[in-house]
Formats: sequence, structure tokens, C-alpha cells
Amino acid sequence: MLLATVLIRVLLVTGQTDLPYHDWRESAPFLRAELGRTGRFDIRAIEEPRALNRAALAGYDVILWHYNGPRLPREAEQAVEEFVASGRGFVSFHGVTYGAAHGQTRRPDMRWEQNAEPWPAFRQLVGASWKVENIGHSLRHPFPVKYVEREHPAARGLPETFLANDELYHKLDLEPGVTVIARAWSDPALQGTGKDEPMAWTASFGQGRIAHTPLGHDLSAMAQPGFLTLLARLLEWAATGDVSPDAPPKLAPVRALVVTGGHSFPSAFFSLFDDPRIAWDHAGSPAEAFGRKLAGRYDVVVFHDMWESIGEKEQANLKEFVENGGGVVSTHHAIVNYTSWPWWYEEVIGGKFFTQDTGERKKSLWKDHVDMVVTAAKGAERHPVLRGVPPLALRDEAYRNMWHSPRIQVLMETHHPDNDRPVVYTGPHPKARSVYIQLGHEAETLRYPGFQTLVRNAILWTARRMPE
Ligand SMILES: [Zn+2]
Ligand SMILES: [Zn+2]
Repeated sequence: MLLATVLIRVLLVTGQTDLPYHDWRESAPFLRAELGRTGRFDIRAIEEPRALNRAALAGYDVILWHYNGPRLPREAEQAVEEFVASGRGFVSFHGVTYGAAHGQTRRPDMRWEQNAEPWPAFRQLVGASWKVENIGHSLRHPFPVKYVEREHPAARGLPETFLANDELYHKLDLEPGVTVIARAWSDPALQGTGKDEPMAWTASFGQGRIAHTPLGHDLSAMAQPGFLTLLARLLEWAATGDVSPDAPPKLAPVRALVVTGGHSFPSAFFSLFDDPRIAWDHAGSPAEAFGRKLAGRYDVVVFHDMWESIGEKEQANLKEFVENGGGVVSTHHAIVNYTSWPWWYEEVIGGKFFTQDTGERKKSLWKDHVDMVVTAAKGAERHPVLRGVPPLALRDEAYRNMWHSPRIQVLMETHHPDNDRPVVYTGPHPKARSVYIQLGHEAETLRYPGFQTLVRNAILWTARRMPE
């Protein structure tokens, strides 16, 4: 199944916030992950916005502003203004309606003072500003946020209200020309204003679009589904001027069939599938896995099993799946699978672990608890399967003296003397995508974040769900 999805390219600008109130070190990765999960955005982050210039911004559709630190060099500020004014987007949230960009300085008693040069365009980029005496909010509490412009693309089709659990900012001065699309009532019993305060707004900026929500104080505020939906929609709207009907369109998860059995393994293995992008079924034997046709039911089969043999009917079903472009990911001892089915290890996997001496060939060897460093193979550094995968330093089982097809592409390798060089590779089959990942014996490996990213990437890539 091929999905032609054009991802919106988001630049998350961060690197400083007004600690201790807001900590970008926890919120930036959280937002990046959560927005990434919508399947709509390709999000990169910059943590040193002083380096922003026209070239650094080229290639993005929208800026997500999560920075509240000192003023930037004028060149950086102008690059941001030009970027937006030229027809792109600028989205910001909570905690940037005050601060140095507004010409405000924090005094030792933590109050803000209006005493410096503001970034002149910043209040238009945010759509609001605050008189220092008005900076504040009611007590943090759960409250409903109501969409008041229900035909705005960012609100269209959503339930009329959602629940926030947040600081309810008040007494903001909106810029002229701003369209408020959501409001919340500020309860005077909780130190609020007794008014409907604006909770989301949009405006144009030159040829471009800006959007802001004052929501998003901390991770618990950001984890509210209504907040994430709103932010994702504001980003999409600011980037494109519209929001696709079912936005944020969640890609249906990849359907994986996970096959185990024939060899023990730590239950930590199953944590690999703890990812909303992957929906999975489990089978404990080839008969259970491949006793009936897979077509239309799965996008990828994940092998963490070790079976010598596979029945004829099962072979036929698995072969049909592969030849129709189904994905194959196999991990660790699955390299010993189906030792008497050459098509499998020669055409699909591209490698084989020989359990016995055969003719001239000595059997393959294994060794436990080997400290290995596994890095991207030369030329494979930019392969989608390695996206976000750091060099791996692991204690795992080493394999050597295996057979490798000359037609594999090695993605990751080690130079450890107890292990063959290829550790992660793609198989030769011209129609199917197959990735073998040798690691995965130890529970520690199975929980290792770099390893988990690698396996999940392999699942998405073999299922053809990963942008190239
Ligand atoms: Zn806050
Ligand atoms: Zn093992």
C-alpha cells in the first residue's frame, strides 16, 4: 500500500524558555514526538535560533516558535519576518506573549519590566502582546475551551469544546486584524477575569499566516488531546492556508504480524511494538502465522522466531505475501529460520546462520555478552531505516561465519572480531522490502532506544510508510 503523503515541513525553534516556569528541554521533544505521530509533519528543531537566516529557513513550510530567550540578532529576526511574509506560517503558543522579544526584562522579584527595545514585528507574529501589569493567569485548572469560529479550517468538524488543563492566560491585547477562533471563560473564583478569554487566534502576516494559542503550560497541559489537535491544525493551517477534512489526518497504523517461537526470548521484545504507528497481531508458529493468506491483512511480517521448517501451504502463503510487496523485518535468531528453504534466505533475507558444518562450509558461531559498537555503513548513513538511529554501543550476542548474499545492502556494521561485519542489512528481493537486524538477544538491547528506533523504522520502511 503506497500512500502519497506530502509532509508539512516544520521548524521547531527552541533552545531557551523562561525557566523555571517553562522548560523547553522537556516540552520540545514531547511536541516533536506527538506532532510527528499525526503522520502529517516532518519536524526538525533548532536550539540555537541566533543562527537563523534565510538559508536556514529555506525548505520549511512553517515555524513552530517555542523560544523565550534574549533578542536574536537583527538578521535572524528579519529572516523570520521575511520567511512568514513570503507566504509561509508562524505558529506559537503559551509563554511567548511576554519576554525579551516584547522589550520586557525580568526583575529579580520575577516580575517583568517594560524597559528594552522590542523586536518590532514580534507582536504581529504572535498576534498579541501583554502590558507588563497584565501578565498573568487564573489558577491552573481544567476548563472547557470553545471553538467560536467553527467554519475556520482549524476548527471545522471538531466538537464545539475540548477540555484544557492549563493556565488560563488573561488580559492579553490582541493585534488588529486577528481572528479569534476559540475562547474560554475565566472563572473569577479562581483569580480569573469573569470574561471569555481568547484561546486561539489567527491572522495574516504579509502573504503568510500566523496562529497562536496561549495554552500549553507544561507536558500535562500539552498532553490534552484537544490541545494537540488544536496545535496540529494551527500548524497545518499556517503552513498551507487550509486543513484537510479529517485533519490532523492520522495515517492508519502499519499492520504487522509478529511471529515468535522456536527459541526463548525476553518479553521486552514486545515493547518494540509499543508505538501507535504499529498495530500488530502475534503468532507463535509458522502454522499459526501463515496457515492462511496474508494479503490484505498485513503490511509487514516481523520475524523473531527460529523455525527449521515451514509447511508447504505456509511457504506458499508467505511467498505470495512477499512477492506482492509485503514487508519483512527479521531480528536476531530469525536468521536461523527455514534452513532448508533457499528461496527464503537467498532471495528474501540475504543471509544465513549455518547451524552445522556443511561440506566446505564451517558452521556459524555465536558468543554471548559481547560489547559491540555498531555504526552506519559507509554510504548508508542517509538510509530511511537509520533515521534518528545513533551509533549503537551494546552488549549483545555476536554471530560470525554466517553466509551473506553479495546482493544485500549493509546498513549498519561492526568491526568487532567476534562478529561478521554486516549487522543490519536489506535483502535482495526486487519486489519486497526486507531488513535483517542481527541484534536483539538481550532485554537491555530490546529496550535500548536506538535499537527500538531502528526496528520501528524498519517496520515503517518495509511497509512503505516512511518518507524517503
Ligand atoms: Zn505557563
Ligand atoms: Zn540469541
